[in-house]
Amino acid sequence: MTRCRVRILRAGACRHPAFMARRGAGLNPVVFPSLVGLIEHPLEGPILFDTGYDPAFLRATEPFPERFYRWATPVELDPREPASAQVRRLGHAPEDITAVVISHFHGDHVAGLHAFPRARLFCARAGLAQVRGGDRLGRVRRGVLAGLAPADVEARARYFEDLSRTTLPPALAPFDSGADLFGDGSLVAVELPGHCPGHWGLAVRREDDALEFFVADAAWSTAAVREAAPPPAFTTAVLGETAPYRETFARLHQLWAANPDLTLTPSHCPEAAARAEPLDDA
Ligand SMILES: [Zn+2]
Repeated sequence: MTRCRVRILRAGACRHPAFMARRGAGLNPVVFPSLVGLIEHPLEGPILFDTGYDPAFLRATEPFPERFYRWATPVELDPREPASAQVRRLGHAPEDITAVVISHFHGDHVAGLHAFPRARLFCARAGLAQVRGGDRLGRVRRGVLAGLAPADVEARARYFEDLSRTTLPPALAPFDSGADLFGDGSLVAVELPGHCPGHWGLAVRREDDALEFFVADAAWSTAAVREAAPPPAFTTAVLGETAPYRETFARLHQLWAANPDLTLTPSHCPEAAARAEPLDDA
């Protein structure tokens, strides 16, 4: 299997009361970092898993009703943090990013998309339908800001649902198959139902031969997966569906229990954020 260098970028953060992500955790605001994977594939070039926050999020949430989104999840974004700035600092022009793998179309995952104009956009057809469907207020309620999707998204999209399927390594059981992005088994997108329609993760074989499984918002933290502590039903029901969310979450716990050395990377996990690239060239 082709191996890839994987780096974690912290592209901004937002604040929620702690109880949103964890039952009984109280009202104190907690910082939820927005993480991006920079995956350097030996043949396909640099690829991103999601794009995190970007100044485009602030522009898109200037008018009403989109401003409600910003009020619900106040954003902190250092000028050095957008994925495009970090990619550049790590030696890649944003135009050289060959693909972005989009876990789902919530604003905190796709705000930076505009900065990667040449990238193929791997995503779920069901996810993109969330951007195009419904009215403005309905989209905001679903966590979707239509203005963040590039105008040519359909032309650049490669849908997970249409790609050839491949069997996952046994170390990822109970997850057994996924969409093979490049036909070489190096990057496999795995459907993780429940958080919202069209929500997928990505399994990558790293240079150190370990597997890294980006699970996006199927869990808020690896600690929650270890402790089998899903978020409360009122949180999961706002954006998605609680029963499939809980089933996916239980499978992640089962995966972790069978293979505790595997790297599980939820998009807003503080432990994963601790591995993020430093912002200064120190
Ligand atoms: Zn989300």
